[in-house]
Formats: sequence, structure tokens, C-alpha cells
Amino acid sequence: MSSSPSPSPSSRPSPGAPDRLKIVWIYPDLLSTYGDQGNTIVLERRAALRGIPTETVHLRSDEPVPADGDIYLLGGGEDRPQILAAQRLANDGGLARAVESGAVVFGVCAGYQILGREFGGEEGQPLPGLGLLDIRSGRGEKRAVGELVGDVAAELNVPRITGFENHQGVTQLGPNAKPFAKVLHGIGNGDGYEGAYSGRVLGTYMHGPALVRNPGLADLLLRWATGTELAPLDDSWAGRLREERLKAVMG
Ligand code: GLN
Repeated sequence: MSSSPSPSPSSRPSPGAPDRLKIVWIYPDLLSTYGDQGNTIVLERRAALRGIPTETVHLRSDEPVPADGDIYLLGGGEDRPQILAAQRLANDGGLARAVESGAVVFGVCAGYQILGREFGGEEGQPLPGLGLLDIRSGRGEKRAVGELVGDVAAELNVPRITGFENHQGVTQLGPNAKPFAKVLHGIGNGDGYEGAYSGRVLGTYMHGPALVRNPGLADLLLRWATGTELAPLDDSWAGRLREERLKAVMG
């Protein structure tokens, strides 16, 4: 397990914020496609700028999942690594215990599907997920590849999302999961919506990496984890990237 403390922040902690956030990057050896690891860097940086130090654990798939994380991140993966990751996480049980005690979980693509009740294996066979989100994924007819844009559920207070998707899976939500966003461009879950959330567990098909392109989504995860409102940051660089990607797709 490798662990890196963040550089000491220059600003003062936000009132009421915890002393330190522990971020657990789950199985970089299996789940990390299309730069998803960038999501950990964005969380570290945006926390540090608010005066909240972080500790990030890069947890390999042969190590036990620590129960004391504040935010757990799962990235995308090819079919076989995805199956192996789901088996190991189920056998370990640590992620489920962390969710029970209120941890934030953010899953991308394969990581999103694994959080659900079921997902499609390499031949499309249904395989058990972790059941932390009330969703079921299977194999779609056609691979969804390209830009993804959507308007996020109003209660989450996150601006329009922009990302890149590349998946064969389609996802159906059960009654205990809410759609994360309404698709304006791209495929997402395959039913006009993209991603899902329930409590503090949120999944999306967006790579890109998602939190680099969508600082508002990074701040949602940080708000959940800290239980506090966060001071706004200067997002002009991220804003330029967002504008460029949104313009390329939406005109
Ligand atoms: N193997 C899954 C699918 O194709 C996830 C792919 C991914 O994470 N990019 O649906």
C-alpha cells in the first residue's frame, strides 16, 4: 500500500471541516483507464486549497480495503480486470462496511457497474456486483464511445457535466437509485440518463477524467465527505477546458 500525504496547505481550514481526509484509490492495478487516477489528484488539490490535508492510499488488489477511508474511488477497466476486481472487493467486504459507516464512493464506468447488483461479463453473462447501488448492468448491442454531456439532478447542485465514455455496458436503475444526469449528448446508461446515486455512493460512465472536467462534481464529493460547505475556488483553467469540450459537442 503506498500512501502520500498532501503538501501542507497555505490556507486555513474551513470552519467545521475535518482535520484530514483519507482518499482510497481502489485497485489501480486493475481499474484505471483513460486517466481516471486524475480524479484522486483533483480531490487532493481542491481539499488542500480549502486548508484540508489529505492522505491518499493507492490500494493494490491484493491488499485489504481499509474501513476508515472518507472517499473511495474506483476507475474504469477492461472486462477481465473488472470481474477480478468485483470478486476481490466482494470477498474483502471492506468497501461495504465503509459505505455502511457513511463513506463517500465514486465509481467510473467498470467501477460504476461493480457497485451495482449485477454486471455483464466478457460473454455478457450476468455476474454479481457489490450491491451498493441499486442498478443492474448488462451488455448493450453497440459500444458507446465518445463525448458525454448531461444536466445533473437539481438536488445535487452540480453544473452541466462533460466527459468521455467508452463502454459496452448498459445500465438500468432500480427504485433505490436516482439518475445522476439527463443525457444531452452521448449514451450514458442507455435510457436517456447517465450514472446513478444513492446516499453518498455515486457512479458515472464519464472518464475524461471526470473530476478534472467537472470541478463541481469534485466539490460535491468533498461536501459529502466533509459535511461542510466549501469556499469557492478560482476555476478559470478548468472552465476553459469545460468550455472547449462543451463547445466541441454542443456547438
Ligand atoms: N467493461 C465495461 C464495459 O465495457 C467497462 C468499460 C470501461 O470501464 N471503460 O461496459
